[in-house]
Amino acid sequence: MKRLVLKFGGTSVGTTEKIRKVANIIKKRFSGDNEIIVVVSAMSGVTDDLKKKSESISKNFDKKELDALLSSGEQASCSLLAGALIDLGIKSRSWLGWQIPIITNNNHTSSQIIKIKNDEILNFISNKGVAVIAGFQGISKENRITTLGRGGSDLSAVAVAKFFQTDSCEIYTDVDGVFTTDPSINPKAKKIEKISYEEMLEMSSLGAKVMQPNAVQASMLDDIAIDVRSTFLENTGTKIVSENEIDFKNVVTGIAYSKGNAKVSIIGVVDKPGVAADVFEPIGKNNINIDMVIQNTSLDGKNANITFTIKQEDLNTTLSIIEKNKEKINFNKITHDDKLAKVSIIGAGMISESGVTHKMFRSLANEKINILAISTSEIKISVLIREELTQKAVKKLHEAFGLN
Ligand code: ASP
Ligand code: MG
Repeated sequence: MKRLVLKFGGTSVGTTEKIRKVANIIKKRFSGDNEIIVVVSAMSGVTDDLKKKSESISKNFDKKELDALLSSGEQASCSLLAGALIDLGIKSRSWLGWQIPIITNNNHTSSQIIKIKNDEILNFISNKGVAVIAGFQGISKENRITTLGRGGSDLSAVAVAKFFQTDSCEIYTDVDGVFTTDPSINPKAKKIEKISYEEMLEMSSLGAKVMQPNAVQASMLDDIAIDVRSTFLENTGTKIVSENEIDFKNVVTGIAYSKGNAKVSIIGVVDKPGVAADVFEPIGKNNINIDMVIQNTSLDGKNANITFTIKQEDLNTTLSIIEKNKEKINFNKITHDDKLAKVSIIGAGMISESGVTHKMFRSLANEKINILAISTSEIKISVLIREELTQKAVKKLHEAFGLN
């Protein structure tokens, strides 16, 4: 007997017909005498619709009420699924976050799970019941409904795996697994059999949409191996595991990209301690995420230019914040550019291989793709390029690093 957690994403439960299909998948896994806990997302599109409704009431809709609102999508899908299982003759019931409870902190709209009480559900599954848990939600110590951030039912599944000590954590989705790059822009993309937590964390943070980055990080911290697989095909998917279970044959494991980036350059700031802090502090306080940062100094060492990237939608706010701080920061001028993409190569094999950087840059140069900014870590190299060149860059790098 094994204890399994199976998580089904929004597209997997997108219609009542699909919910029946999911119930049948669960039935198959159950018949092998396994104990089963299911975590479910809202039906696809539902959370977005609710979000839009809140925005049409107010651009600053109260975050606590937003959590109560958005979490309702999962209430519908988990009860529909439990009902479908009962219809198949399986003992089942649904649990909302507060009923378990899944205790989180009170950081509304992106709360962290502190603890999951497990006795009631353990009792239920050991008596041949399939437990269906609403993903994405919890309850704070102040007795308010919380949510875990968009895509957060992945995180719910990883936390269930941890607090119920399950033997596996299976993430069912509308794709076959994790691919070397996005198959919709490069048909040569291949399914990856095994990927390390660290690589997956980079892949998902840098644009691959298969799993929520927070969920990958949580699985890495507690070494909870994840199995990503398709709801609709009976293929084996991708295993996300600890790096010592992988021999890194390829230097590069995958290529990720994100569009909709913007770049801001502040020209001619004084080169002295505290300037960068003065630039970034007010931007950070407005919850705007800074991504790449480059600083270069003039020849005489007196002035510097600071360049950084942000999401395109944050560009106007960022520019006005800098203008407002003009007196304090004291610069010559600001320039900016939007419709940029970040393309990244990711691979733990890079650590022990030299020449990866120049190979990447040369491949892009051969395609006449200009690099606007660069950032690196031990296992990834990212470049900023014009958005319309994304596909060309991804295809070229996929070939250059032997992934075709
Ligand atoms: N329904 C939530 C969302 O759309 C959570 C999830 O799908 O994982 O973000
Ligand atoms: Mg989702």
